[in-house]
Amino acid sequence: MNLDAYIRDIPDFPKPGIVFKDITPLLLDPAALDAAVQALAAWARPLEVDLVVAAEARGFILGGALARELGVGFVPARKPGKLPGETVSAEYILEYGVDALEMHADALEGGARVLLHDDLLATGGTARALVDLVQGRGAVVAGFGFLVELAFLEGRSKLDGIDVQTLIAYS
Ligand code: 5GP
Repeated sequence: MNLDAYIRDIPDFPKPGIVFKDITPLLLDPAALDAAVQALAAWARPLEVDLVVAAEARGFILGGALARELGVGFVPARKPGKLPGETVSAEYILEYGVDALEMHADALEGGARVLLHDDLLATGGTARALVDLVQGRGAVVAGFGFLVELAFLEGRSKLDGIDVQTLIAYS
């Protein structure tokens, strides 16, 4: 299935000059949604992970489905201040300023094998923060699966040594 056909370009979002890759047409189509989940699960199955950790907010959609498909639990990595329990956090740099992702401190056991997921890899800042968060708890990043990669932004360079899989890449 050509998943690329279900990704829509939205010019000038969220600001002038940016062409946003909108994944909602793929989410809307049952066959495309299933194909995306199955393709990521087929890649991830041999990694034998204990958990899926995904980034707020679009990462939660396929991340949850992927965890269900692999028969493992799901850990949300959220924007600051959203989680009710004790948290650990990792910062990442935005064009203007910094942001952070947080996870519950007791969500991962040391040595756990973790599959990371986000919808899209752009500059790699968000992905790197997720890796730092998980490795900072002594867990192992077994792989990082994305739906879309904006390869021209070279986000993979921030994920050296990590098994990265993307279903749709734009160069
Ligand atoms: P990065 O940190 O790699 O520069 O940006 C990736 C993060 O920003 C991801 O969490 C992703 O959801 C969001 N993002 C950036 N650009 C786009 C885009 O064009 N489409 C979508 N769907 N998400 C984007």
